[in-house]
Formats: sequence, structure tokens, C-alpha cells
Amino acid sequence: MDKINSKMDPMGRAIAEYHKTGTADRLRVFSPMFEEDELPLPTLFRSYEEMPEIERKALDLAKGKTLDVGAGAGCHSLVLQQRGIDVTAIDISPLSVKTMKERGIRKVLEQDFFTLHEQYDTILMLMNGIGIMGTLERMPVFFKLLDRILAPGGQVLCDSSDICYVFETDDGIIELPDDTDYYGELTFQIQYKDTIGEPFDWLYIDADTLTQQAEENGYTVEVLAEGKHYDYLASIRHRDLHVLSALQKNT
Ligand code: SAH
Repeated sequence: MDKINSKMDPMGRAIAEYHKTGTADRLRVFSPMFEEDELPLPTLFRSYEEMPEIERKALDLAKGKTLDVGAGAGCHSLVLQQRGIDVTAIDISPLSVKTMKERGIRKVLEQDFFTLHEQYDTILMLMNGIGIMGTLERMPVFFKLLDRILAPGGQVLCDSSDICYVFETDDGIIELPDDTDYYGELTFQIQYKDTIGEPFDWLYIDADTLTQQAEENGYTVEVLAEGKHYDYLASIRHRDLHVLSALQKNT
């Protein structure tokens, strides 16, 4: 993925305006599957107290050198930095990066996550951060990247949702489509004022599918918490090291 041109950066523009003025227009989200939706700006600036429980849990589990992937306005990085954790926020949006710096986050990278080489002990991917994989087919690329940037014994903390509920009929039966590759693969487009971003693929992955993908690529998944609406928090670790530490605990 290339760095995005700030002219085409609707979310970054909204984040920057909200940061400067304390108010913003509607950040509009379009997807062929849904009615037009909106992402409220205060959500992107949420405090620890305002975060859903699974995000608070993820922050409480973060330790060591930590990376906040697709950090947006930097809400998670800010909490961790205040706790004295060595956290780096990364985002491809130039305006989000500028805003995070203005908000006092000391380590901020304007870079595509997939081009990283440095290693981290904790990699946070919150608010469905794993969505940036776009499609299930690209998951092996993600695990290849983890081979490089997840430190030995390190953890990825990510949340996602099983969006099967979208396919619930009026009778309460879930009928998954059989004409698509994987039902969690969506396409979105975002608009802020007259700035309209390119359409992009965004993946929602259920815990079983994530576990299966991880196993196939040498990793192990543990579901740490379940949210109120088909959402969950999971950790991803290197499989061999995980087995080793479980063995050590038992001896
Ligand atoms: N973590 C934020 C969510 C921000 S929305 C929060 O919980 O509030 C997702 C963010 O991911 C956007 O800011 C977008 O610019 C960023 N992003 C998308 N693709 C990326 C990539 N390849 N590398 C780094 N950041 C990316």
C-alpha cells in the first residue's frame, strides 16, 4: 500500500479538524452491503474510561516495546504513553500522524505497517485493526510480517467481530452467502466534506477462522475476552514459544 495523498485522506482530515476545533462534520462511511453509516469523531478520541471493555483489557495487557497499528487519533497510544510504556504509533495517514504529534505522542511513524522491520513485544491492532489485511487470502502476508516484526515471546492483541449477524433473516436464522469467498470481506469508502477516499477492502474475521489461519502459519490464537456483540479480543503468539512457555509453567 502506498502512502496516501493527504488530499485523499478523509479520515485524517476529519481527525485534524476535530483536534483543532473540537467539532467536525459527518465522517461518512459507505459500503455496498450496508446503508450509509457514520463514524462519530469523539469515538476516535475516546479516553480509557470511554473505551469498550475489550480495548481496556488489551491496554492493560500491553507490555514491553509496543506498536499501535493504524493508530488514527492515537487514543490507545496516549493511554500507554501516560503509563510509561514505550509505545510507537504508526499510521499511513499524514494528517492523523500530524495530529498525533500535536497531541503529544512522542514516537509516531508515518509509514505503511507492511514495510516495518523493527521488532515489538506487543503489537496492538484495535478497532478491528486486522481489517487492514482486506481479504482472507492476504492473511499469510500478515503472518510473514509477524515472522519479521514480532519479537520472540511477543504478542499481537487484536479485536475483530464475527459479522455473521449481518446475514440474520427475519426468522432469526443466519444464512451465510455461498457466493462470496468469505463473508467477513467488505469494501468501504469514506467521505469527509468534499474529500472522498479510494474504496478499500476491510476484513472482519471470526475467532475460529483467525485461529485456523494462525495455525496454518505457525502461530496460536487465544480468545481473551468476548464483547457484547459478536466481537472479541484475541492474542496471537508464535506457536512454538507458546508451547514452550506452557511446558515451563507446568514443570
Ligand atoms: N486504532 C484506531 C483506528 C483508526 S481507523 C482507533 O481505535 O481509534 C484505522 C486506521 O488505520 C486509519 O487511521 C488508517 O489510516 C490506518 N491504516 C490503514 N492502513 C494502514 C497501513 N497499511 N499501515 C498503517 N496504518 C494504516
